[in-house]
Amino acid sequence: MISSPLAITALEEIYRFYASWASNLDLACHKGCAACCTRNVTMTRAEGQFILQGLQETAQLDRLTRRLQIKGRTGRPGMTTNEWAGDCLEGREIDNRETVQVLDPCPFLDQDQGCFMYRFRPFSCRCFGSSVDCGRTGMAEQPDILMEVNTVTLQIIEHLDQGNYWGNMLDLLMILTGENKSGRDNNGVQWTEEIGRHLRRSRPLPGFLVMPDQQAAVQSYLDNLFTVRIGETTLGALLQRTA
Ligand code: SF4
Ligand code: SF4
Repeated sequence: MISSPLAITALEEIYRFYASWASNLDLACHKGCAACCTRNVTMTRAEGQFILQGLQETAQLDRLTRRLQIKGRTGRPGMTTNEWAGDCLEGREIDNRETVQVLDPCPFLDQDQGCFMYRFRPFSCRCFGSSVDCGRTGMAEQPDILMEVNTVTLQIIEHLDQGNYWGNMLDLLMILTGENKSGRDNNGVQWTEEIGRHLRRSRPLPGFLVMPDQQAAVQSYLDNLFTVRIGETTLGALLQRTA
């Protein structure tokens, strides 16, 4: 496990590198287009800490707390990206029984359909793109290379935070902002425990899951990503250290 400050530095560098790579894609996404902003977003604990740090520095923590009180259903995945990739690589049947998906809008959307914490949003929000305006067509169309690069990047981000909480963004932020509180729901269950039951733990990389026809392009992306500097080291060296 790597230290929190280093994990956050690594995240920022990965976000920066990915944004530069993705800027070459021809996507229909634009400001105010937010059909993809639902209550299904997942992230690592380090990504949650990055959000909290950013909102604290910009004096917006109260805003976050208020948005987290907006009631709604929560989409919860039954497995992490690396758990899923591990099962696929081992040829095991995928068990999705625990997965809950909802299309309710994310509570962090403003009235103009902008995101109030856009600068600090997790990778799952940064990587969702479509070559058609899915707000109009009702369905996203993702280029194959985008899906493959997204998967390997999600795998790396999870690997770097292995052992820590992983799960729905709203659940994780409730936990991270409520660690010192003792709230109880209507059934008398301490809510941090109740939410904690829906979270998983980040897993190490089981190997990269890439479709055969995209392997050369993804390898080129990874080769460049691994050279990105993270403090005194590189992302590639950091991954080897945490393997
Ligand atoms: S993924 Fe779809 S809904 Fe989201 S910004 Fe892009 S075009 Fe709009
Ligand atoms: S955090 Fe922001 S970018 Fe992500 S789903 Fe919510 S509103 Fe959209």
